[in-house]
Amino acid sequence: MLTNSRLVHQPHDHGRCISAALTRANDLCSEQKVRMTTTRESVLRLLWQSHQPLGAYQLQGQLSELLNKPIAPPTVYRAIDFLLQLGLIHRIPSLNAYIGCPFPNSEHSNLFMICSQCGSAAEVAHNTINSMLQSASDKANFTLQSQCLELFGLCPQCSEHREDTDNEQ
Ligand SMILES: [Zn+2]
Ligand SMILES: [Zn+2]
Ligand SMILES: [Zn+2]
Repeated sequence: MLTNSRLVHQPHDHGRCISAALTRANDLCSEQKVRMTTTRESVLRLLWQSHQPLGAYQLQGQLSELLNKPIAPPTVYRAIDFLLQLGLIHRIPSLNAYIGCPFPNSEHSNLFMICSQCGSAAEVAHNTINSMLQSASDKANFTLQSQCLELFGLCPQCSEHREDTDNEQ
């Protein structure tokens, strides 16, 4: 099963991504009986404004602008931690940046396809990969606790663009 990556990397109604993400987040919060504060929701919104991962420093700047008051780094980090713990966002280690999760509260692969040209990142659910990694770990007597797979390459839009320029030469 492969979900979401084609959609993310192609022109789409992104407003629907945002509203779906916020609905999922609010549902999850009421289910877990935790509070979605303005700061937390704003950070989630900022992370969903596009499919580009954002670093904490960028988030801090944008959050201060959005809420129209200076926001201290600990406030940003607390909101990030909250969202990470609920599985609403992920940290992409090599970029040291965060991205909204399209399927929170479900077991999934933490597999990201990151475009090295435009920087957009698509999270992909791929069941076979999980069982492969599990069996590789089992064979090595390794207790697998978490995983994060980062694939770098060109998204459909950027590779199309590249073909266009290749043809012109
Ligand atoms: Zn979108
Ligand atoms: Zn995810
Ligand atoms: Zn791209």
